[in-house]
Amino acid sequence: MPTDGFINAEVKVRFAPSPTGYLHIGGARTALFNYLYARKFNGTFLLRIEDTDIKREKEDSIVRILEDMKWLGLSWDEGPVRQTQRLDIYKKFAEEMLEKGLAFKCYCTPEELETKRQKMKDEKLNPRYDGTCRHLTPEQTAQFEAEGRKPAIRFRVPDRKVTVNDLVRGEVIYDEDFAGDFVILKSDGTPSYNFAVVIDDYQMGVTIVMRGEEHLVNTPRQVLLYEAMGFQVPQFAHISMILSPSREKLSKRHGTVAVDLFKQEGYLPEAMVNYIALLGWSPPEGKELFSLDELIEAFSLDRVAKNPAVYDVEKLKWINSQHIQKMDNEKLLELLIPYLKSAGFVNDETVVSKRETLLKITEALKPRLVLLSDVAREAAIFFDDELHFDEQGKEALGWEATPAVFDAFLEVLDEYESLTADNFMEAIKKIQKKSGAKGKNLYVPLRAGITGQGHGIDMSWIMTILTPEQMKNRLKSAKQMVLA
Ligand code: GLU
Repeated sequence: MPTDGFINAEVKVRFAPSPTGYLHIGGARTALFNYLYARKFNGTFLLRIEDTDIKREKEDSIVRILEDMKWLGLSWDEGPVRQTQRLDIYKKFAEEMLEKGLAFKCYCTPEELETKRQKMKDEKLNPRYDGTCRHLTPEQTAQFEAEGRKPAIRFRVPDRKVTVNDLVRGEVIYDEDFAGDFVILKSDGTPSYNFAVVIDDYQMGVTIVMRGEEHLVNTPRQVLLYEAMGFQVPQFAHISMILSPSREKLSKRHGTVAVDLFKQEGYLPEAMVNYIALLGWSPPEGKELFSLDELIEAFSLDRVAKNPAVYDVEKLKWINSQHIQKMDNEKLLELLIPYLKSAGFVNDETVVSKRETLLKITEALKPRLVLLSDVAREAAIFFDDELHFDEQGKEALGWEATPAVFDAFLEVLDEYESLTADNFMEAIKKIQKKSGAKGKNLYVPLRAGITGQGHGIDMSWIMTILTPEQMKNRLKSAKQMVLA
C-alpha cells in the first residue's frame, strides 16, 4: 500500500461543507482532492456538514450537496455528520477550557463590542477584542449574571508566534498579535467555526485538513486551540483559489459554477471530475484525460500548485467531448434519452420500439456532441421531417443538376425497402448514373434534398437511418422548393 509520505498513521481526510446553497466548482474540487487522497492511501473520507450557523442553514441545500457528490462519484466512508447534532460536545469542551483557565466568560453585549470595534477602526487600529472580560473579578461576574447577561466563551489567546506547516504552501508564520481573544462558544450556546472544526477534526481523527485557501487565515487560531487542549495538530493543505478568466474570484457572475447546473447543461460527471482535478493539480507527464480511477492513481499533493487556478470553460467542454467519445453507445444513449424526450423526438414507447435506430443515431452523432444537450440540435435531422435549409442547402436548390438528382434519388428509393451499410453505395451509384451528376453536384443536392443542409454528418448515416419513405417525402418537398 502506498504511504502518503507525510505520516505513517492511517489517513483520514474530510470534506466539511456549510450548507449555504449549492455545491459549486470550488467546493467540488475540495471534495475531489480529499476523496482522491483518501482512496489513494486507502484512508477514510469523512463528510461533515457544518450547519451550526442556523440562520443560513437550509435543509434542501444538504440534500443537493449530497446528490451532487453522488453524481460526481465521490463516495464517502463516514457521515454525513452534522455539527448541530454535536452541540453538547462543543459545550463540554468549552467548559473544560473554562475550568483549565484556557478560556473566559465574556459578558460584553454585541452593541458594546460594535462601539469598541468602531473606535479602534477610527484610531486606525486592527479591530479586535480588547480584553475587557479577560480578568473579571467574581464580583463583576456576579453583577453581570444578576443583570441577566448571557456570556459568550472566549479563548485566552496565547501571546506567541504560530507557524503553520502547510503541505501546499510551505511554512507560514503568524506574528504574536495576529488575533485577539476569539469566541469559541457564542452566548446562544453554539460553537464558533474555529472551535467546532478543531473539536471535530480532533475527535474524528482527521489526519490531514485539506480545504480552500480562504481558510488559511483561520489555521493559526485553530493550531493554538489544538495546542491549548493538548490535541495532536493535524497536517494542513490549503488549496489555491479558482479564478475566472479575467482573474477575479470565480463566482456566479462568470457563468455556471453550481455542479447541478453543469449536470443540467449536459456535462458528464466523469468530465467534471477530470476537469476539476486539473484546477490546481498538474498531472505528471502532461496527460489531461483521466477517469476517476486514473486520477486516484496519479494524484499527489506535491503536484498541487500554490498559485491560483484559472477556470476555462472551453477546456471543460473539450474534456466533456472527449469523455463522450470514449463512452459506450448503450450508456450514452441512456444519457441522451432525457434530452431527446424533452425535444419531443422520442417518448416512452419509441425509446423501446426504435432502440436500434436510436443506437445508430447515437453512434452517428457522438463525434459532434460537446454537451449531452447538443443532441437536441444535432438529432433534429432524424426526427424533424420538415426541411430547414441552411445557406448552402438553399444554394444547391438553384443548381442545374439538382432537379435531376432529386428525381433519380426518388426513383432509386423505390427499389429499396431499406438502405443499409451494404447497399447504400450501390444506391448512390445508381443515382449518379441516372442523373449524370458527379462530385459536388451530386453530393450536395443528395444531402440537401433529405436534410436541407449543405454539410453535416456522413451521408451513410443519414441514408441508412432515415427510412426510404421519409427520404421520399422530404425529397418531394425539396422538389417543391425548387419549383417555387
Ligand atoms: N465549512 C467550511 C466551508 O464550507 C469548511 C471548513 C473547513 O474545511 O475547515 O467553507
